[in-house]
Amino acid sequence: MFNRSRRNLARWFTLSMGCILILFAGVIYNLEVKDKLKALDQLLYKRAELMAASSQYRLYQGQKQVDLSNIPLLGSGSHPADIELIYVRWYEPNGKLKRFFGTPPPEQLKTAFGFLTIKSIDQLTGEELWLRQVTLPVGGGNSVIGYLQVAIPLTETQNDLRQFQLMLTLAVPVALGFIGLTGWVLGGIAMQPVQSAYNQLQRFTSDASHELRSPLSAILTNAQVGLLMATDRPQLHPTLKNIIDSAKSMSTLVNNLLLLARHQGQLTPQSLKKVNLNSLLEDLAVDYTTIAAKASIQLISHLPEPPFNLWADPDLLRQAVENLIDNACKYTPSGGTVWLRLEPHSDRAVIQVIDTGIGIPEVDLPYIFDRFYRVDTERARESGGFGLGLAIAQQIVQAHGGHIQVMSHENKGSTFQIKLPQMDMLKSAFTDDPSS
Ligand code: ADP
Repeated sequence: MFNRSRRNLARWFTLSMGCILILFAGVIYNLEVKDKLKALDQLLYKRAELMAASSQYRLYQGQKQVDLSNIPLLGSGSHPADIELIYVRWYEPNGKLKRFFGTPPPEQLKTAFGFLTIKSIDQLTGEELWLRQVTLPVGGGNSVIGYLQVAIPLTETQNDLRQFQLMLTLAVPVALGFIGLTGWVLGGIAMQPVQSAYNQLQRFTSDASHELRSPLSAILTNAQVGLLMATDRPQLHPTLKNIIDSAKSMSTLVNNLLLLARHQGQLTPQSLKKVNLNSLLEDLAVDYTTIAAKASIQLISHLPEPPFNLWADPDLLRQAVENLIDNACKYTPSGGTVWLRLEPHSDRAVIQVIDTGIGIPEVDLPYIFDRFYRVDTERARESGGFGLGLAIAQQIVQAHGGHIQVMSHENKGSTFQIKLPQMDMLKSAFTDDPSS
């Protein structure tokens, strides 16, 4: 149980930190992309400026002439004159193509001013090529005398970004591994006080239940003897019978609490025996056929051959299934039917207790295996349980490495299902830490 909580803590810690990490990596990558593009754009702009300057013209940005000499060059430090140009195009003020170098352009200027990333085809290799293009108005005197369009390849920037991406892709799983490990250690530290408090509580429940057993049986015995001796005083009989009933009910409660406290996930290797599930269930079916018949309920068992063997504590396993059959009989009105079924599989056995009883409301289903949980006070009063039967059954099944679940529809009936692993799997489960 504690290992499961620790695992959950570690899992949620890793998940939340992992999401933050991935988000962070995404932001860093985007910033890097922006940074690289900015550096490239400045390089491209500087190159366009050089070209315009060599032709005694000035670049316009919008309607305003810009002094380009102060723009710092970021990034690689390559000189703008060094960068490879894919094409240079010169358009007249009316947008008509005048001159060009590189890839043949459209006759009319179509793109808006500014920077653009475009996909092109390499003239030499025929391969796909990504370009960064700038289109700028060029001024002479006070008027625009044409438009300059320059493009450079994005290959180097793309390669840099790919490398950065690869580095992040490798770093993120490694960081996630560390986070998972930290989560596991932190989970262990967080669970320690809870575990020791829980162990103390379990010890207290176990000791208190154990200590209560003797005085309770003394009360029961004395009340029974008193009833035998008070044959001549009938007015005392109801009181003594009340004492006997209460003492019996308290004994059941104390025994159940003791069972829950003692077998908290632990099965000692000495208590394990090779159990033939078919005959265990058959015995139960025989016992309960009579009990059910008294309440006018039909109990049908379906326990097919071949025998299914597993390692289990037979008394506890019997108790778990008995609690389910007992409930099925308790919560099924007369005339109803209860089925006890066994489905043997190669790796597991599935036991089903099905009834046509009053069913369990949907809202109560998630809590049905909680200790002291009872569906409603009216049922509670009628059936007289303590709400521990299912908690005990679940604890026993889980201690055997199995799983219990319920399906129910109000006024139609319920199906309780126990899945138990096959012998070898179960044996290895016991050699593990059973408290997990
Ligand atoms: P109890 O001793 O009260 O029966 P359990 O833990 O065995 O305690 O059951 C908890 C509650 O679940 C019961 O109060 C009952 O309302 C409901 N319940 C359990 N089994 C059935 C069933 N087969 N059909 C309908 N209700 C059920």
